[in-house]
Amino acid sequence: MGSFINPCFIYLDNNATTQVAPEVFEAMRPFFLNQFGNPSSMHTCGGVVAKVVDVARESLARLLGCDETEIVFTSGGTESDNFAIRGILEANPDKRHIVTTRVEHPGVLNLARWLKRKGYEVTELDVDGDGILDLAAYRDALREDTAIVSAMWANNETGVIFPVEEMAAIAKARGITFHTDAVQAVGKIPMDLSKLQVDLLSLSGHKLHGPKGIGALYVRRGTRIRPLMHGGHQERGRRPGTENVPGIVGLGKAADLAIEHMDDENTRVKALRDRLEASLVGSIARTRVNGSTSNRLPNTTNVSFEFIEGEAILLRLNELKIAASSGSACTSGSLEPSHVLRAMGVPFTMVHGSVRFSFSRYNDADQVEYVSREFPKVVADLRGISPYWSDSMG
Ligand code: PLP
Repeated sequence: MGSFINPCFIYLDNNATTQVAPEVFEAMRPFFLNQFGNPSSMHTCGGVVAKVVDVARESLARLLGCDETEIVFTSGGTESDNFAIRGILEANPDKRHIVTTRVEHPGVLNLARWLKRKGYEVTELDVDGDGILDLAAYRDALREDTAIVSAMWANNETGVIFPVEEMAAIAKARGITFHTDAVQAVGKIPMDLSKLQVDLLSLSGHKLHGPKGIGALYVRRGTRIRPLMHGGHQERGRRPGTENVPGIVGLGKAADLAIEHMDDENTRVKALRDRLEASLVGSIARTRVNGSTSNRLPNTTNVSFEFIEGEAILLRLNELKIAASSGSACTSGSLEPSHVLRAMGVPFTMVHGSVRFSFSRYNDADQVEYVSREFPKVVADLRGISPYWSDSMG
């Protein structure tokens, strides 16, 4: 399995970022040292490097089930989301309507809201209490002037999976371009784009044990899209700038490893997640799992503990050397609850006390045992000093 980079910490925040796999790091190393050529150069120093970029492209294409010519390397998920949406709008200036969902990552949602201020019309689809989209409402939202649908494959906070296959087919039947932000799904669940009607798909290296600052946009052959930036002819004219060669090599290796570990992710890692979730829900009163448990990523659980603050839980976990994350972010002194949990209508007393645990291939059963043992004490302590908890107890 490879050694964990910080043996003192139990890292359960893999949807935020993952450890670079040791194999990935080793694969990248030569491209910082002696193999530093520019892939566009005519000489051998460049030619050697151009070849490894192609090999990495093939690896990623294998993971996605697409052709290598359909991969454009970018700097990560956020750039890929921006490239997809803005690139399609620029190529279709007559169409001014965008369909997305209320639970997207800011890489899509903040872009859509910015575009709205610029005069585009944006429909943000609702989800139900389980984080699931209503396909009838989705169908109704599509219009003659809809340029693009952007819907995430899997939610970063809850792990809930959208019916991307059906949604893409519905968009295609109406002649609308379909983009999916699959940053959390790629490498965790199998996918075969050759069988789907998805036109554009965003992914990011650092979510699948690759390096940070590298990602890709899948662009189905024949899709009319404009580049986000203007410059050289790299990436077949779609993404100018000298390639991040070590990053690309790292992403290629991460894709190979993801294929190799896909079964582990969907069996052992999933079982670890399920064990922790069952233990927390079974041993702590007034908890709830947020999001559908029947259709979600194998590595993610989002649990709310009523009447306490997620931030307080995280600080106590940090003292215990457990890394997780919370659904709410403390911004400028005011507690801003997660837009995802709010969209799902999670009750106020639950929304603030949410914690996301996200696993990876580097977690094991001993870690789950430790967290299962320590976590109930943290909740009991915090509830002991929570005025809301004592009120609720009468
Ligand atoms: N989309 C989703 C669903 C994500 O979870 C993230 C990162 O958390 C991103 C996009 C942004 O990716 P990056 O950090 O590579 O820009």
